[in-house]
Amino acid sequence: MLKAVTRSLWLKSVAGIRMMSHHSPLSGKVAIVTASTDGIGLAAAEALGQRGAHVVVSSRRQTNVDKAVSLLRSKNIKVTGTTCNVGNAEDREKLINMTVEQCGGVDILVSNAAVNPFFGNILDSTEDVWDKILGVNVKSSFLLTKLVVPYMEKRGGGSVVFVSSVAGYQPMQGLGPYSVSKTALLGLTRALAPDLAHSNIRVNCVAPGIIKTRFSSALWENENVLEEVLKQISMKRLGKPEEIGGVIAFLCTDEASYITGETFTVTGGINCRL
Ligand code: NAP
Repeated sequence: MLKAVTRSLWLKSVAGIRMMSHHSPLSGKVAIVTASTDGIGLAAAEALGQRGAHVVVSSRRQTNVDKAVSLLRSKNIKVTGTTCNVGNAEDREKLINMTVEQCGGVDILVSNAAVNPFFGNILDSTEDVWDKILGVNVKSSFLLTKLVVPYMEKRGGGSVVFVSSVAGYQPMQGLGPYSVSKTALLGLTRALAPDLAHSNIRVNCVAPGIIKTRFSSALWENENVLEEVLKQISMKRLGKPEEIGGVIAFLCTDEASYITGETFTVTGGINCRL
């Protein structure tokens, strides 16, 4: 009788652990998300944190970092914050070194930062515009990956996710250089995935459609513009940051263990074809 009770208690506790690991598939993992004090980056940090990861949030402004840290803490998410302008080499190194010192390693990198300092005819864009856009949106994604790879290898593997855009498939009017930078991330994903597979590091990319954030406000603040935008979307609504955050987090879990070198479009049904 006693044996049966002990066995049943043991089975229940094993089931409990299994359930916990199902709800916390990223427990024990450390996740760096760049540009994560607002919008899609913040939603990705929250989604990773909800799945049990310790998240490291960052952006250029300390006040934004402080706000994001206290918001995530209020939701019981394990979080560390620091400033990091991803276009700056010293900042990138500081971010990785601080993460390793304070959290013991790195398992996940979500490279989400992007800038768009130019709107207009692509032929009017200058060399400075191209340097800035490619530097922040593409080069820094690669250089951050290069910095984290040795630490991921020490942990036996990891996951990298780049944030591209629907504009990477079909250049948006007025956003030529930005769109090209987002196409480049699809190429970077494919270029890195085979080489990092040997180290058990998966590299994937998420291409959001039009998501309601400050970054895309030019597409939804004006009602007439919004009406035109919605015509392109099967679901006839804009996306929410958490609808991207969840897909990013999924790609970092073991449920996505056989996915690498892929770009997931998350657009509510915008036609995406290269
Ligand atoms: P958002 O809501 O405006 O948030 C931008 C975040 O980036 C803020 O936390 C900002 O904080 C930070 N940031 C800006 N420049 C940075 C830099 N150089 N280094 C580090 N952090 C920086 O933007 P979002 O819409 O979430 O966009 C995030 C990503 O999604 C971008 O890669 C964007 O291209 C992509 N995306 C967005 C949409 C959309 O419709 N929203 C669609 C497709 C793709 P600080 O000001 O403190 O730096």
